[in-house]
Amino acid sequence: MSKLSDRLGRPIRNLRLSVTDRCNLRCQYCMPEAEYRWLPKDDLLSFEEIARIVDQFTKVGVDRVRITGGEPLLRRQLSVLIQALAERAELRDIAMTTNAVLLEKHAQELKDAGLHRVTVSLDTLDPETFQMLARRDDLERVHEGLRAAREVGFENTKIDAVAIRGVNDGEFAELIGYGKSVGAEVRFIEYMDVGGATRWRMDRVVSRARILEILSAKFGSIRELPRHDAAPADRFELKDGTTFGIISSVTQPFCATCDRARLTADGMWFTCLYAETGTDLKQLVRSGASDEALHEKLIEVWAARRDRGAEVRAGMKDRAPLAELANLRANPHLEMHTRGG
Ligand code: SAM
Ligand code: SF4
Ligand code: SF4
Repeated sequence: MSKLSDRLGRPIRNLRLSVTDRCNLRCQYCMPEAEYRWLPKDDLLSFEEIARIVDQFTKVGVDRVRITGGEPLLRRQLSVLIQALAERAELRDIAMTTNAVLLEKHAQELKDAGLHRVTVSLDTLDPETFQMLARRDDLERVHEGLRAAREVGFENTKIDAVAIRGVNDGEFAELIGYGKSVGAEVRFIEYMDVGGATRWRMDRVVSRARILEILSAKFGSIRELPRHDAAPADRFELKDGTTFGIISSVTQPFCATCDRARLTADGMWFTCLYAETGTDLKQLVRSGASDEALHEKLIEVWAARRDRGAEVRAGMKDRAPLAELANLRANPHLEMHTRGG
């Protein structure tokens, strides 16, 4: 395998595959608007096209794939794609991030198809807060989805919770306890000023330091665990051995070790969550480019990569949402739900 590195010496290892830009929730921190402009259906990559592109990514170093969206379980026959990915021995880890509303229905077939792990996004255990935040009354279905994931045998399940001041900062301890009860490790994510987060404000971010302060007031001393890889979460342990994570993209960004690439459902490849432009791999694939040409393109783009979006933003004085609404309307590829979180 080639030893491809970008301009800052970072390899490419993780590929986040967005399989749809649609979603069945409307989280305030991701999709706060009343209406969205969707990607044209004909532009969506077929599973064959995705698999072909993934094969080229594995040749340059990718060995982990995360299926995401939008809500990935809205993509029809997703398990067919997962099965195709599971057949690729180069992929050591095939995970999915989902809001779990449809997980109960699909858990068994996903497991059978060869999905390794699921990460469930769940920010609150309070039905009213859930309704306010996600703007759908689906909390019970998320619980059922998590139960089903465990029942069919998924292990290493994570629960990702975006921490928002005044919304869920009173229930961090309960979330950790809930995670324990369903066999999942909770990770708190600092609320990010990504595309789509038009309601973002710095004073709504609950920093890593504040999260630790809140949790140690409740649980006593907290030990930080040593890091083993380039995963975005720092991990911690409570006195009783319970572990949890914090993804501090706002106050302590981790761009220096970022090995992640993102492919949208219509084949745009972004080398950073905050990147303004991407590379149109669909156009290459549909214009008859050879595997060699695709391979060369991946090398060319990654070798030139300098992105450190979150670090650059952390250095900004008057930080405001990344993109204005008019900009997002004109270019849906800027949206987190298109780009894949
Ligand atoms: N719909 C699926 C879900 O919610 O799990 C997958 C896609 S979603 C875009 C992926 C992740 O991005 C979710 O865990 C979500 O919480 C996170 N996310 C979206 N907007 C965010 C923001 N402004 N700040 C931090 N995390 C965000
Ligand atoms: Fe949908 Fe996930 Fe965005 Fe929530 S975070 S609106 S579930 S894509
Ligand atoms: Fe990677 Fe960009 Fe996120 Fe930094 S901001 S960790 S470079 S995706």
